[in-house]
Amino acid sequence: MPNVITRMSSLFLRTLREDPADAEVPSHRLLVRAGYVRRVAPGGFSWLPLGLKVLRNIERVVREEMAAIGAQEIQFPALLPREPYETTGRWTEYGDALFRLKDRKGADYLLGPTHEELFALTVKGEFSSYKDYPVLLFQVQTKYRDEARPRAGILRGREFVMKDSYSFDLDDEGLERSYQLHRAAYIKIFDRLGLDYVIVAATSGAMGGSASEEFLAVASTGEDTYVRSTDSDYAANVEAVTTPAPPAQPVDGKPDAQVHHTPATPTIETLVDFLNNAGLGRTFTAADTLKNVLLKTRQPGAKDWELLGIGLPGDREVDLKRLEASLEPAEVALLEEADFAANPFLVKGYIGPKALQDNGVRYLVDPRVVTGTAWVTGADKADHHVVDLVAGRDFTPDGTIEAAEVREGDASPDGNGTLVAARGIEIGHIFQLGRKYADAFELDALGPDSKPVRITMGSYGVGISRLVAVIAEQYCDDIGLVWPREVAPFGVHVVIAGKDEAVAAGAEKLAAELDAAGVEVILDDRKATPGVKFADAELVGVPTILVVGRGLANGVVEVKDRASGQREEIAVDQVVAHLT
Ligand code: ATP
Ligand code: MG
Ligand code: MG
Ligand code: MG
Repeated sequence: MPNVITRMSSLFLRTLREDPADAEVPSHRLLVRAGYVRRVAPGGFSWLPLGLKVLRNIERVVREEMAAIGAQEIQFPALLPREPYETTGRWTEYGDALFRLKDRKGADYLLGPTHEELFALTVKGEFSSYKDYPVLLFQVQTKYRDEARPRAGILRGREFVMKDSYSFDLDDEGLERSYQLHRAAYIKIFDRLGLDYVIVAATSGAMGGSASEEFLAVASTGEDTYVRSTDSDYAANVEAVTTPAPPAQPVDGKPDAQVHHTPATPTIETLVDFLNNAGLGRTFTAADTLKNVLLKTRQPGAKDWELLGIGLPGDREVDLKRLEASLEPAEVALLEEADFAANPFLVKGYIGPKALQDNGVRYLVDPRVVTGTAWVTGADKADHHVVDLVAGRDFTPDGTIEAAEVREGDASPDGNGTLVAARGIEIGHIFQLGRKYADAFELDALGPDSKPVRITMGSYGVGISRLVAVIAEQYCDDIGLVWPREVAPFGVHVVIAGKDEAVAAGAEKLAAELDAAGVEVILDDRKATPGVKFADAELVGVPTILVVGRGLANGVVEVKDRASGQREEIAVDQVVAHLT
C-alpha cells in the first residue's frame, strides 16, 4: 500500500525563523525551529508530526534489534503502586527524582522512573520452572524522573521515552550471555542510527569487567566525561575511574590524603573494625544494626558535620527501611540519590552539610569525630578509599574535590598509554544486576532437583526520545537538520519551485511515482517563494531534496543531497530509478 503523500500546504507544521530563547544546544534550537517538538513544561515536550515520525523510526530500529535477540515486548503502566518499590527500598532511595503521588483514597503511587521491580514481580507471577528460563523482556515506555536540571529540550526530560529490557537467567553464565546479546544488539542499533559513540566502563570493573557499560554518543555538549587510552581499548566514564587526590602539602601536621586499601568487598567485619578504630569512644559489634550504629555515632549538638549513617552495599535494602524508621523526616530528606547499581562500592552515607551532597560528596565522616577518614565520590574506586582527608585542603568548603578525577594525560589504569578525555551523552546503559531484585521478591525457579534456584537479572536501557536530540546533535549544520536516512521523517522532500501549472503537475506526478515505489515523500505545494521553500527544506533535514522547477520544460529536475550539499540534474524519467 502506497503511503499518503504528505503535503506541506496542510501539514501541521510551522517553522520558526528565530531560535527559541531557552535553547542551550544546536539540537534543541533546530528541533524547535524546524517544528519537531514544542515545550510544554520544564522537561516536558510535545511531539509534532515530524518529531513523532523520527521518534517512531528510532523505536522501530530498537524493536527490530530487540526481536533479533529474542526479546519479547510487554508493557507496564507508568502509574505504579508504592509497595514493590518499598520492598526494594527505592521508594526512598530514589530521592527527589521520583514523582510520588496519592490517589483519592490516599494510597501512594509513583510514576515509574525504571521498572526492575515490575518485571521481576511479573516473571515471578508467570514462571516457576527452570525450563522457563532464560527469558528476555522489554518495553518501550514513557518514564518519569523529576530531574534536578531538565536540560536541552528532550535531551534530559522529566517525561521521556526509554526502551528498557530485563534478562532473567538461572546462573551467572546465562546472565553474561544475556548481557553480551544486549551489548551486540546495542552496537547494531547505534550503528544503524549512524551515531558516533563509545562504549565505556560504568563501574570500576571490580565486579567483573563487564558488570556495567554505558554507550556515550560523542558530543561536546554532553554532560558525561569519559576517558580513553591512547594505546588500548580502555575507556571509562570518569565517574567510574576516579582516582584519589594526589598528596597535598600538610597543613596541620597530619599525613596527607592518601589511598587506603581495604578488602575488595567490604564486609561487616571491615566496617566494625573501621568504626572501632575511628575514635568514637563506642564499641561496635557485627550484631549492630544500622540503626544502632546511627544512634551510637550521632554526635549531640553536632550541626555542620554529622555522621548520620553508615552502611554496606550488601545490606542496603534492609538497612534503608530501618534507617527510615529511625530518622526524622528532615533526615530522611537527606537520603540522597546514589547510583549504587552502577557503583557497588559506594557506601551509602547520609551527611551534612547539604552543599557537599549537592556537589557530589556521597559519604563523609566528620573529621572531628573520625579523624581524617572519608569516603568521597570521585575519590572512591574499587576497594580503595581516601584517608586522612582535611577539609579545606583536600576539598573546598563547598565540597568540590579538585584533584579527585582522572584527567587527560594521566597514565591509563590498564597500564597502556595515557588518557585523553572527551564529553558524551549517555544513550544506552547495560547492567548486570545480579540477584538484588530477585532476592527482594524471592524470584526462584524450581530446579531439575526440585530445589529452588535464585534467578539473576540484567537491565538494559536505551534513551529513545533522547536519541532524537542526540542524532540531531551529530547530524546538523548551520542551516538545519541533516537526518540519516534510517530515521529521517521522509525519504524525499519534493519542492515545487515556481508558479507554473506544468511544474506543479510534474512534481505531483513524481511524488506519486516515488510514493508508489515505496519512498516516503513530503511535497512542498505551498504558495510560497522558492527561497522560503528551500530554507524550510534545509531546516527540516530530509536527506534528499528534489527540486521541480524551470528545468522541467527541458526534461530535468534537480536532486540535492542534504548532507553533502551536492546537486545534480537528473532526467525526469530517471528520477524514480535514481532515488530508489
Ligand atoms: P543520565 O546519566 O543521563 O542521567 P541515567 O544513567 O540516569 O542517565 P539510566 O537510568 O541508565 O539513565 O536510563 C537508561 C537510559 O535512559 C539512559 O542511558 C539515557 O539514554 C536515558 N535517559 C535517562 N534519563 C533521561 C532523561 N531524563 N531524559 C531522556 N532520556 C533519559
Ligand atoms: Mg540520571
Ligand atoms: Mg548515567
Ligand atoms: Mg545510566
